[in-house]
Amino acid sequence: MSASCHCNKESTSKVTKALPEELSKEFEDPNHPANLICELCRLFYDNNWVTGTGGGISIRDVDGPNPDLVYIAPSGVQKERIQPWEMFVVELPDEKILRTPNECPPELTKSYKYKPSACTPLFMSCYTLRDAGACIHTHSQSAVMITLLCENQDVFEISHIEQIKAMPKLQYNETTGKVEKIGSMEYYDKLVIPIIENTPHEEDLTDSLQEAIKNYPGTSAVLVRRHGIYVWGETVWKAKVYNEALDYLLELAVKMKLAGIPTVKAETV
Ligand SMILES: [Zn+2]
Repeated sequence: MSASCHCNKESTSKVTKALPEELSKEFEDPNHPANLICELCRLFYDNNWVTGTGGGISIRDVDGPNPDLVYIAPSGVQKERIQPWEMFVVELPDEKILRTPNECPPELTKSYKYKPSACTPLFMSCYTLRDAGACIHTHSQSAVMITLLCENQDVFEISHIEQIKAMPKLQYNETTGKVEKIGSMEYYDKLVIPIIENTPHEEDLTDSLQEAIKNYPGTSAVLVRRHGIYVWGETVWKAKVYNEALDYLLELAVKMKLAGIPTVKAETV
């Protein structure tokens, strides 16, 4: 199914009439974070990454007038049908909620009370600990399957695959105290992604996700066993590329493992 099949856009006249003028103007920009979340949710839905209301996307408005603004899709909605006015807007560093979809005209929203995504504290961890510009959470089957195949391991590792070059090379800078991008990974580099254990409630993953982010300064993602993956990047487009490259590598790794092929070449172990 192509992304263009989700023809659920409200008619322009209905939206223009119902939305406050200020918001209507704001959403005219196709690159507005709220519009990009809708666009990416539809793309990701088609990849089976955010089906059944699972997963989520959040974007920090790094190119906008206030880079501390974070847009987050709400909890429990069908991600492929989401509209820009259904986002929560939070301001860093205090995580103050500035706007919720519950304030929108009722004719444009669902009949229930919107709740912030359960992923919110996890997304915030990526912004505060890594200065990320966007964070993506999917329930990708490849991500889930690799954590099952790496049953007793707390990391997933892979090397000598061309697609690794799409991932950033990161290094902890002792002077700034921050993890910085120093380039891209190379073909022979070993990619290491930490795996944390799942919890009954998404928000309870926060402590172990933060610990993994701190313990693995080279990573741009954390796998959650039997659940999915969190991926972040310096911009929304970088996060999208990293997520796609990682999912490719995870899908390949699952096939390699099932075929009895080690995911790390002998000389790099
Ligand atoms: Zn999840």
